[in-house]
Amino acid sequence: MQPSSDATLEAATQWVRGARRIVVLTGAGISTDSGIPDFRGPNGVWTKNPAAEKASTLQHYLRDPELRRLAWQNRLSAPVFSARPNASHGAFVELERRGQLLAIVTQNIDGLHQVAGTDPERVIEVHGTVHWSRCWGCDDRRPMQSTLDRVRAGETDPPCELCGGVLKSDTILFGQSLVPEVIDAALDAADRCDLLIAAGSSLSVFPAANVVPRAKSAGAKVVIANGEPTKMDRFADALLIGPLSITLPALCTTPV
Ligand code: NAD
Repeated sequence: MQPSSDATLEAATQWVRGARRIVVLTGAGISTDSGIPDFRGPNGVWTKNPAAEKASTLQHYLRDPELRRLAWQNRLSAPVFSARPNASHGAFVELERRGQLLAIVTQNIDGLHQVAGTDPERVIEVHGTVHWSRCWGCDDRRPMQSTLDRVRAGETDPPCELCGGVLKSDTILFGQSLVPEVIDAALDAADRCDLLIAAGSSLSVFPAANVVPRAKSAGAKVVIANGEPTKMDRFADALLIGPLSITLPALCTTPV
């Protein structure tokens, strides 16, 4: 895939400069430079090991105690708990500082936008967060680190302390419904923006990917930044192909 031209980047940068209500849609690709692998990119978890998809599917997770034990063990050393934000997260902090950012709709579960300094009120986490655990039975929610302390202490598949139900991270697994108010907030932001930047996502997971056509049909300019083609490229006014930690600071932090 050819990197995009300087002229495309320059045009998109001009739109960013002139925009007043920017919505950003992010995916796993913006956190790979923080050491968290994506799923479907060239070095993605599923690209390298297609069987890993099973662990992200609700029905398998609920049905299979062995898979849950493995999932808890993997969480103990997961890079997501020690990762630091990178230049891509920082680029969107700059948009907020300038008063141009309406919302960040993120498919990521790593919390790195908030760590980078984005106002948590502006971050819409459509797939939940890994920083909390939740009981599938009674919905009791606890900080993930306190649940991981129980795993470290020897509970290989810790049950809910209130009802004995199955605990999972507070993320949306495949086969699990999204929280209606959260996806509504994401689509509402798409309806209100004048510029959408979709970055680091294959744009193949629905309904999150619908933010792109929604913003387009509301009249917004659409900029898609990614290292490879996405499923939504036909909606883009500018396609920025290249490494995100170079593209996004160039796009968002050029002085107005
Ligand atoms: P995806 O894996 O489907 O797509 C990521 C895209 O980013 C790929 O097209 C890849 O080529 C591109 N990419 C990766 N690193 C890049 C870089 N440095 N520069 C340019 N492009 C780069 O991810 P998705 O669309 O977010 O969907 C996967 C699902 O997995 C989401 O629901 C998300 O919740 C979850 N997930 C989240 C994390 C995280 O929170 N960091 C990590 C893995 C998966």
